[in-house]
Amino acid sequence: MSSPLLAEATRIAREFDYPAAQVQRGVAEYIRQSNEGLAQENTTLSQIPTFVTAVPNGTEKGLYLAVDLGGTNFRVCSVELHGDTTFSLTQSKIMIPRELMASGTSKDLFTFLARQIEAFLRIHHNEHFEAHQRRRREGKGEEELFDLGFTFSFPVRQYGINSGTLIRWTKGFNIPDAVGHDVCALLQSAIDDLDLPVRVAALVNDTVGTLMARSYTSPGETGTLLGAIFGTGTNGAYVEKLDKITKLKSMKDAHFDTSTGEMIINAEWGSFDNQLGVLPSTIYDRELDADSNNPGIQMFEKRVSGMFLGEILRRALVALHKDSKVDLFSNVSITPEGLLYRQWGLDTSLLSVVEADNTSQMTDIKTALKDHLNIENASNEDCQAVKILTHAIGKRAARLSAVPLAAILIHTGKLQTDDIVDVGVDGSVVEFYPNFEAHLREALREVKEVGVEGDKKVRIGISKDGSGVGAALIALVASKDENLKNP
Ligand code: BGC
Ligand code: MG
Repeated sequence: MSSPLLAEATRIAREFDYPAAQVQRGVAEYIRQSNEGLAQENTTLSQIPTFVTAVPNGTEKGLYLAVDLGGTNFRVCSVELHGDTTFSLTQSKIMIPRELMASGTSKDLFTFLARQIEAFLRIHHNEHFEAHQRRRREGKGEEELFDLGFTFSFPVRQYGINSGTLIRWTKGFNIPDAVGHDVCALLQSAIDDLDLPVRVAALVNDTVGTLMARSYTSPGETGTLLGAIFGTGTNGAYVEKLDKITKLKSMKDAHFDTSTGEMIINAEWGSFDNQLGVLPSTIYDRELDADSNNPGIQMFEKRVSGMFLGEILRRALVALHKDSKVDLFSNVSITPEGLLYRQWGLDTSLLSVVEADNTSQMTDIKTALKDHLNIENASNEDCQAVKILTHAIGKRAARLSAVPLAAILIHTGKLQTDDIVDVGVDGSVVEFYPNFEAHLREALREVKEVGVEGDKKVRIGISKDGSGVGAALIALVASKDENLKNP
């Protein structure tokens, strides 16, 4: 490791170090910000009450619809809960046209969503669909509506299980006229315009869906504590004691079942520490933020999630490429118009490929550089430099991810019991980035209140596509329990 290039790559990589002492400080600050968020509105950690007051136990039954908006695809599915911890799921996925994500109106977007629901019903539930249309024509009412769980993975101020107004867009979505509006009402009205036999019964964050799905499929004596997403964005939802959610007292007209004494809180941890009191910050983080469409917010997410890791790496590579004292990609012709120099030009999936290739010829890395950045003939040393940076950026993301997890373990007092603490996770980063969980756990053990013993109690399991099943489960709860409906 003597070459100037590798030495410089190593120097930059060190800027991404996130040592144990900083993890510990992060955890303390997370606990502080989460208490603040439980007590009042408009805090950096939103700590959103979801009005979901019970987790499933695997015996739930019925056929429900679910849709999921929040990443690059819009998903529509129907879920048959068999009541024995199993389910069957039929789904379709549609890429969301870019212009609908960031330049159209909310009407354009929600009409598009309703049309996809219609197409799905015609293909998979046509009998039901036609019967509904017939009853309407004959003026016989519409009692046979599908209850739909709407997974909408953005920060929403919830007013009940089936209503909530959008606080802000994240993850590259930007449709200003939707902010402040009730997204359930927007979807319902687009559905009604098309006369579909569907009632939007529940509004669900993907993390809440993940938590619910995990509890349904692997019920234990203690249930699942936390559902977390490490994908395009990052966030978590956990089970909180009702009496700790002191800001609920001011929501006089919210209706919910209080019998369990608990409620799921959607933390919106992507916005942990927006003021950068404790988060690590490199020049690449700062420039990424300044050039993003939401500077100053989602600061934790911008260091952890799939939408941003590729862009951090790209910026670090550009710094090396511009540095005249070292040669990166020197056998390659790279123009300022090329992907390497284009904002968002590097997809995060490249990091997983790079991290996974431990061969001496690094063929997979070379192929990925060609596929992702159109860089041909990268040398072994180029690949090594890419690898050094990738490793550092991915490892920092995984170690940062231990912060909310440790904080929630400590804050909920779950480590004081002998029980296993169950955590359901989903998302491309945790699923595909090699050793993400291992790095996360290493940092978790370094937190003094957790330690080796605490780490042993934590069981982490992938809850693949949990949001569909989770949304169905919440739609079920919402449709069964009159207490949960707004008057
Ligand atoms: C959103 C969250 C969501 C997370 C994961 C974030 O950008 O604010 O609501 O849960 O992404 O999809
Ligand atoms: Mg998702």
